[in-house]
Amino acid sequence: MASANGLVIAPGKEPLFSFGLISDVQYADILDGRSFYGVPRYYRHSIIVLQRAVERWNDHQKLKFAINLGDIVDGHCPKEQSLNTVKEVVGVFEKFRGPVYHLIGNHCLYNLPRSKLLPLLKIQSPDGHAYYDFSPVPDFRFVVLDGYDISAIGWPHDYPSTLEALKFLQEKNPNQDKNSPVGLVGLERRFLMFNGGIGKQQMEWLDGILQEATKLKQKVVVCCHLPLDPGASSKEALLWNYDEVMDVIHRYNCVKVCLGGHDHKGGHSVDSHGIHHRVLEAALECPPGTDAFGHVDVYDDRISLIGADRMESTDIYFNPQADL
Ligand SMILES: [Zn+2]
Repeated sequence: MASANGLVIAPGKEPLFSFGLISDVQYADILDGRSFYGVPRYYRHSIIVLQRAVERWNDHQKLKFAINLGDIVDGHCPKEQSLNTVKEVVGVFEKFRGPVYHLIGNHCLYNLPRSKLLPLLKIQSPDGHAYYDFSPVPDFRFVVLDGYDISAIGWPHDYPSTLEALKFLQEKNPNQDKNSPVGLVGLERRFLMFNGGIGKQQMEWLDGILQEATKLKQKVVVCCHLPLDPGASSKEALLWNYDEVMDVIHRYNCVKVCLGGHDHKGGHSVDSHGIHHRVLEAALECPPGTDAFGHVDVYDDRISLIGADRMESTDIYFNPQADL
């Protein structure tokens, strides 16, 4: 039996475990619209995509958990409906028979402050942050980053993270509208208000987790709503300090894959250290009747993403050079 990239897979080899994946549901009970770049957005259909994802995940007996890469409710959702709409989407996720690990995105934060959002998503992290890790089997660890740690959205207005983000945007983006990339060149185009960065404390936490994973000989999957590699994403969607995060990750050999959302078209790249970056296609942009979700089979030497419709299936072989 051959895989898509021609490598031979031992017949009958069972995955170590499997999990479900979906990103950018961005549901709102409003008329369909378009993105800034004119891409159609199907606000009411996206929750149906999520419902079909959960049904499919439940049919798959071996899924251990699911990951939501963020942005469950759109920023256009009328504010007085935000709380109920977030609860409605969380309610669909809760029909999955296993745990769901949520990431937060900018659209979640347009709707609710962290103090209301994180308990609904059952995210437990120090001081209102949304980074954490979990280990579904002893040989693997998942690291969930909070890409809006330093951000002008979601924190109280006088909070240090907000002030630091506003100062940063003031320095990096000369436009009045800090969501406009006009005049920004190349990778500078990521310095937009709807993105964010990882702060010092989280960076130290990440370093500590990767150190520990290395000691335990674990393979690591890093998840962040904002993509971490320019090869897999539009420049406008990247984490502000993706380069600093990757410098930390590249000090170790344990990280095999980085998963992201936010850049709705999706993408896949392999960086200079052999780490794969897979940005997921958005559920929001599925025309009625089509889907974008998937499940991942994890083996000791690779992960296989099996996507529905618009989510491209991807075989990711771990770089043998980078093995411990
Ligand atoms: Zn986003």
